[in-house]
Amino acid sequence: DAVKAALSDADPTVADRIIDEMSSEEIGKNLRYLTSIPHLAGTPADKEQADYIVQTWLEQGIEHAEAVPYNVLLSYPSDEEGKENKVQILEANTPDNIIHESALKEKVLDPTQDHPDVVPPFNAYSAQGEEQGDVVYANYARVEDFFYLERDRNMVLNGTIIIARYGKIFRGDKVSNAMAVGAKGIILYSDPKDVAPAGQPRYPDGIYLPETGVQRGSTFKDAMDPLTPGYPATAFAYRIDDNEAALPKIPVHPISYADAKEILRRMQGVEVLPEWKGALDGVTYRYGPTIRDDDNTIAKVKIIVHSRNERRTTYNTIGLIRGKVEPDRYVILGNHRDAWGFGAIDPTSGTATLLEVTRVFGKLLKDGWRPRRTIVFCTWGAEEYGLIGSNEWVEENMKNLVSRGVAYVNVDSPLMGVHRLSAGATPNLKQIIYAAAKTIPDAYPEGSRKTMYDTWTMRDKSAGTDEPSVSDLGSGSDYASFLHRMGMSAIDMRYHWDDTQYDFSIYPMYHSVYETYHLVETYYDPEFKYLQAMARLWAEIGRRLADLLIIPMDARDYGSRIKTMFEHFKDSESGQKIRNRGLSMDRFEDAVDTFNEATQSFHNEVTDVNKQDPMEIRRINDKLMMLERGFIDPLGLPGRVLTRHVIFAPSSKDMYASAGFPGLVDAMFDIDNSSDPTKQWREVEREIAVITHHLYSAATTLTDEI
Ligand code: GLU
Ligand code: CA
Ligand code: ZN
Ligand code: ZN
Repeated sequence: DAVKAALSDADPTVADRIIDEMSSEEIGKNLRYLTSIPHLAGTPADKEQADYIVQTWLEQGIEHAEAVPYNVLLSYPSDEEGKENKVQILEANTPDNIIHESALKEKVLDPTQDHPDVVPPFNAYSAQGEEQGDVVYANYARVEDFFYLERDRNMVLNGTIIIARYGKIFRGDKVSNAMAVGAKGIILYSDPKDVAPAGQPRYPDGIYLPETGVQRGSTFKDAMDPLTPGYPATAFAYRIDDNEAALPKIPVHPISYADAKEILRRMQGVEVLPEWKGALDGVTYRYGPTIRDDDNTIAKVKIIVHSRNERRTTYNTIGLIRGKVEPDRYVILGNHRDAWGFGAIDPTSGTATLLEVTRVFGKLLKDGWRPRRTIVFCTWGAEEYGLIGSNEWVEENMKNLVSRGVAYVNVDSPLMGVHRLSAGATPNLKQIIYAAAKTIPDAYPEGSRKTMYDTWTMRDKSAGTDEPSVSDLGSGSDYASFLHRMGMSAIDMRYHWDDTQYDFSIYPMYHSVYETYHLVETYYDPEFKYLQAMARLWAEIGRRLADLLIIPMDARDYGSRIKTMFEHFKDSESGQKIRNRGLSMDRFEDAVDTFNEATQSFHNEVTDVNKQDPMEIRRINDKLMMLERGFIDPLGLPGRVLTRHVIFAPSSKDMYASAGFPGLVDAMFDIDNSSDPTKQWREVEREIAVITHHLYSAATTLTDEI
């Protein structure tokens, strides 16, 4: 019987059950309940909602469910009166004369966002302090923006306060870029150009950010508890001192565009490049650094931050359905639970969806179904502070996950828009997203748009092929530690806004107090049909990974993706420079081809596998599961020991973005202006060799040779 069970493939009718059972009403109810209070990490609501989820899972029939605590370093504004964080404009000679002061809270625009537990706008892990000075507008505060100010405009940024708009890159990179040029502080704001197009209705009349809205967010550049790098934040953990942690050393504070306008309209200096201009009415965007009041008196900008870093406990919830044939193989579905406010989009539209996925799986279990492999459901704590809950869990369970983890499927904020699906994944998981999306009815089918896949492929032309694009994974949500630390293949999914119409970096209300149930129920998904479709897709991908006899991963897509990346790199400016330097990329290219060919031959083995032989099935599945691990360098990437994937990593210039061949890309960065070109070129040689080695090695993992 055991052999018979080991040889039986998944029951396909379960896919139909998933579609039939998934209820939009239930998702709506989950969302309403979970967004009724703010649920910031490390607050009582963090624990309350974790307990609620554990309780619900047990009631749903999930076999094991628990809340797992970690004691970690978080960051909060002071709640003492007079110690609010803010930005001021002062008269330079009479600093007691305050010309303008930023709002301490976002305005109450509808009753549902009025709650005493809403944390005022702040940037987590900002340094404490008060700094005042001249002010320079730095566009998006990207590396290239600062290069432009310093190299092309010859501006001295040392000792200034930077004002920059949110968007394009992770805010933590903006802060570290400002520190690198010697700025004393940085003010972040969302420009209407990026969050509120002219003539479009603003909350509560629509989905665009009102002038009083502010994006909160962490400024920590790593994905972990700042005090326990590499090891889980358990009770017995060794903790480094707060001041040893890699946290910002300057104050940073976010303000609304109403407040930013008061600064920007008073700024002097040369008018900025057209592409640096925002869309604030009545503002001529200038670089600064001088600022004058309307009567021409010289002014200064002051940034005041009283936030404190504090040790608090945050909770993950972990639920299990044990696999019947391979209980020691894990398929992991996760979403974070903590929010900056009510979190109706980020992340609670995902949590509400996950709770429906688990309800349906619980029901299937009660009806006698059991997947081949174990399914693990997770809601993470303190994602917003730096992917902390998921990272600590990966650190705690690393030994098992490394040898037994199949894949991680993340959904953070499924309702970023309602236009089409958008997915990132390791290349070996692209086909499973396509295959599953083809079986899920579209939320609002119309004509030839019958399935999620139909709509996706019709509306996403960015791949330039007939297939919709699946992007490489950068960072920014909880798949990062799974993929970049330990080499587990991963997927991240959401619905996306129409980017042919609006060129946003993120949905307009992101991390503001206005991310309410009201927002979702009124404008995004009144019938919860999009979330229902996402629940079906998520569950179906989970089912396939956990239940199909052969793990549905396609190694060939990994081979061809790396080949394409290599061709791009070879033709890029960097590739040209490497050739001009006389360095060979021949072995690199040979390794790329060797890996690519290995994936092809291995695929033939997968197709021809003897499905009557349980050992053969396990042999093939182990290779599929372990392929990603082949890209992990135990020594880590240069300067990032805990980021260890040599093919894909978060870009060191923008944590949200993916960098292909990250070590090499970093080694080549700005090499023409290097202070020690010989050393930097040696590093380039080293990186080429390291990647070459990993490609050859990963290729051997697909064979039985040693
Ligand atoms: N997703 C959160 C953000 O974008 C956290 C990202 C991180 O700190 O790594 O702010
Ligand atoms: Ca840790
Ligand atoms: Zn999120
Ligand atoms: Zn977030």
